[in-house]
Amino acid sequence: SSASRKDHAIVKEFREGCAAPLPVLRRVAEGIAADMRKGLNSDGGHSLPMIPTFVNTLPSGNEEGLFYALDLGGTNFRVLRVQLGGKDGRVIDTEFEQVAIPQDLMFGTSEELFDFIASRLGTFVQKESGKFHLPSGRLREIGFTFSFPVKQTSIDSGILIKWTKGFAVSGTAGKDVVSCLNQAMDRQGLDMRVSALVNDTVGTLAGARYWDDDAMVAVILGTGTNACYVERMDCIPKLQGHLPANGDMIINTEWGAFHDSLPLTEFDKALDAASINPGEQILEKTISGMYLGEVARRVFLKMAESGAMFGGSAPDKLSTPFVLRTPHLCAMQQDQSSDLKLVGKILSDTLGVDDSSLGIREMAIDICDAIVKRGGRLAGAGIVGILQKMDADSKGTIFRKRTVVAMDGGLYENYPHYRKYIKEAVIGLLGSEISKNVVIEHSKDGSGIGAALLAAANSKYA
Ligand code: ADP
Repeated sequence: SSASRKDHAIVKEFREGCAAPLPVLRRVAEGIAADMRKGLNSDGGHSLPMIPTFVNTLPSGNEEGLFYALDLGGTNFRVLRVQLGGKDGRVIDTEFEQVAIPQDLMFGTSEELFDFIASRLGTFVQKESGKFHLPSGRLREIGFTFSFPVKQTSIDSGILIKWTKGFAVSGTAGKDVVSCLNQAMDRQGLDMRVSALVNDTVGTLAGARYWDDDAMVAVILGTGTNACYVERMDCIPKLQGHLPANGDMIINTEWGAFHDSLPLTEFDKALDAASINPGEQILEKTISGMYLGEVARRVFLKMAESGAMFGGSAPDKLSTPFVLRTPHLCAMQQDQSSDLKLVGKILSDTLGVDDSSLGIREMAIDICDAIVKRGGRLAGAGIVGILQKMDADSKGTIFRKRTVVAMDGGLYENYPHYRKYIKEAVIGLLGSEISKNVVIEHSKDGSGIGAALLAAANSKYA
């Protein structure tokens, strides 16, 4: 099949609807900075929750000793131990294991889930070799990364607001997840102590800060998206009267919830309406890995239904939500062959569109590019919004010196075009001089020693 004028018109209209030129990016950056202030002022009713994490001590590099990390955030959980050797020794040794969570436990009771986690942690601790040393008289300390919405009440406690990401465990919502873990460890006869409860963005920032004193912001771009940053206590009105007003605290922005001034098309609106959380997480639905492929599928489907692109009728596969994944878009954009053979294969294998012409394959790439360009540029605008807010409240100290933004997540790691568009947006917004001071880099931590570092930085024995 080959493309018609109708197809070209659909692509053109879509590209225009997705466009995120500098004036749009400026409005988004300003909107994020403004909503950050609102969320810091008071709880509830604002687009950005701006959750206080109670983390005010980031790793310095001097941490020493044996620490554990436990990471629960999706269908796997990870356990890790690290032996830290201070400024000179750094990370002396590290070991980890990944365990798949059995499907039935995701729908079971809180006790069953936490018993399973505690028992696997116990097995991992038993395998601790002579390379790791715990001073006598101490308990093993854990940094617990728990990537579900939690209302944190201190560095080592927090109440689960609700399960997300397919978990439907009964009896945890409204409870302190650290108590749940402690009780399960008691039942398993495992004597360890949770010293830090952290969100995955906070773990990423801690991991980056351990190696680089200039790390101030962390951004996750994976299945979903989120960002955290170092805020001054005196800029968090909603905590005043509760905590001392000096020093810093990491704030979890939950920026995926942002929704103003975004360039959205009919396809984005339909995706949102069909989602399990309509009206929520609009920025996340525009820029994160779970959704980019689905937006593209919806455009292709319209072309099949009303254009000639796919021969005037839609194959079943093309009508199936989420069949086209973000890695497919990435593979299509990386196809260097003169006849775009790989694009043709993905259109055929994944969407059921056989015998596509070169013109159609080129249009498919144009659609992927429009979506990924918008995503990367909006992510860049979000980063600039956070930095501009920080800079305004610190009398210019962010832009006048080197500032590191630590990035992590499968989308950022694997999609070179997306990374390029983030960078272009940041340079476009800040100008080439200031943007030289903003270092956006992949955090080496990745696997989550950040949480173990936070357990060390917040050790009960320090
Ligand atoms: P999670 O966010 O679920 O904890 P990751 O950080 O590993 O996990 O991110 C996974 C996401 O990264 C996937 O949903 C996908 O959107 C994106 N991704 C993974 N591999 C690629 C790839 N090769 N190209 C583009 N995106 C990818």
